[in-house]
Amino acid sequence: MYQNFIGGRMTAASDAVANVNPSNTDDVIGEFARGTAADLDMAVSAARAAAPGWARSAVQDRHDILARAATELLARREELGRILSREEGKTLGEGIGEATRAAQVMDFFAGECLRTGGEMMPSTRPGVGVEISREPLGVIGMITPWNFPIAIPAWKIAPALAWGNCVVLKPAELAPHSAWMLVDILNRAGLPEGVLNLVMGKGSVVGQGMVEHSGIDGISFTGSVATGRGIAAGCVAAQPMKKVQLEMGGKNPFVVLDDADLEVAVNCALNGAFFSTGQRCTASSRLIVTEGIHDRFVAALTEQMRGLKIGDALAQNTDIGPVVDPGQLAQNRDYLEIGVREGARLMGGDLLKRNTPGHFMSPALFTDVTNDMRIAREEIFGPVAGVIRVRDYDEALAVANDTEFGLSAGIATTSLRHASDFKRNAEAGMVMVNLPTAGVDYHVPFGGRKASSYGAREQGAYAREFYTTVKTAYTKAG
Ligand code: NAD
Repeated sequence: MYQNFIGGRMTAASDAVANVNPSNTDDVIGEFARGTAADLDMAVSAARAAAPGWARSAVQDRHDILARAATELLARREELGRILSREEGKTLGEGIGEATRAAQVMDFFAGECLRTGGEMMPSTRPGVGVEISREPLGVIGMITPWNFPIAIPAWKIAPALAWGNCVVLKPAELAPHSAWMLVDILNRAGLPEGVLNLVMGKGSVVGQGMVEHSGIDGISFTGSVATGRGIAAGCVAAQPMKKVQLEMGGKNPFVVLDDADLEVAVNCALNGAFFSTGQRCTASSRLIVTEGIHDRFVAALTEQMRGLKIGDALAQNTDIGPVVDPGQLAQNRDYLEIGVREGARLMGGDLLKRNTPGHFMSPALFTDVTNDMRIAREEIFGPVAGVIRVRDYDEALAVANDTEFGLSAGIATTSLRHASDFKRNAEAGMVMVNLPTAGVDYHVPFGGRKASSYGAREQGAYAREFYTTVKTAYTKAG
């Protein structure tokens, strides 16, 4: 039984939910607490009580705690990666990679504790000085999805703590174990009680409760557009209003031009569309291909897809693990039917039987897709991609931008002119040239445009826009 973490100690909850391995539904990982509004109240009170002390704490102490957590995360990355893959279904290599990323993020923000400064400006008035400084926002509520169950909590918690905020985290119900481990490691690294609290449970209870809670100053959310929209509205309606940051879905284009290196293009598409079972906000779900390379690209990609091993996330040699749960699997299968009804041609997307009961599905590739089809407009969030044939670069760019989303956009080309033009004109927060749309660094800003993101960027030094509030002080020498 994994309990909530409130005010520095495990706190028993009245209800719990089983965490089940999607590679083998007979494997129950554990029972995880399902928090109530009362648990949330306790966590917010603990965070508020800890907030003044933590805000004034020495940056050296904050640095040392984050650095100790980074060291433990790195040392235990294989164990944490296994926990992650077991509950979420990405392959062990991907799981270990994500645990390593959590350690790197922690290490980066340990350094950021020491790098925070302000500005001094001359005043327009004689004898007056102006100082611009940053102060902690206060108590932050964090609501996270299941698909990066350790990296996303880490890249929210680390900057929040580095800049002197207290935290209440609500991870996704489908994959709480990784977040639980992260909170345990951080608390043992020396955080004062109440600085970091974990309340697991339902979005409609704990998540919604955070949005409405008067003791929370800001909400950092990652998840779907529909949930995000409601959270933003709730933050504005709340008393007092809350600062809010949303990272949401994508329908990311990957453009392949006639002059692309075919091998590079196919590898980027294969990785971007299908790795991590396509369950990435940055997945390449629209492959926009010019007509001179279209047939060769589709043939080579299909060939590579056939070679992928789909199976138990923890097994050696597995390339693609299971879909996270029956609901997501049903959604993927519904979209396969929708695509066929819309007139696209489907390859793959079969339900697969393995030695254990799990949610296994082969990657699916649609061809003859047009950008007005639902499969080209709506986020599916599974191993499903569609190929859209276009005449030339100009049409490719127009189709790439013709979407309500704007998270990541990629292009495979050997032309400097097209690469430069795409970097300038792609309507996305992140642009990749000859690289998959998924896969980012941790020391630079992460985020998108349009329906994909709302509010300040996450990660790197840019994260301070959300986690701090600016003060402008005027001094006249007396
Ligand atoms: P989701 O929106 O269903 O849930 C996300 C979180 O919100 C969960 O913790 C959930 O419990 C909580 N929640 C649900 N209803 C709520 C409510 N009414 N009030 C407050 N909280 C509520 O998303 P998901 O299925 O967990 O994750 C998949 C989605 O996340 C995809 O759309 C994906 O693109 C997106 N995502 C985005 C990024 C990014 O950085 N842009 C990264 C990863 C995932």
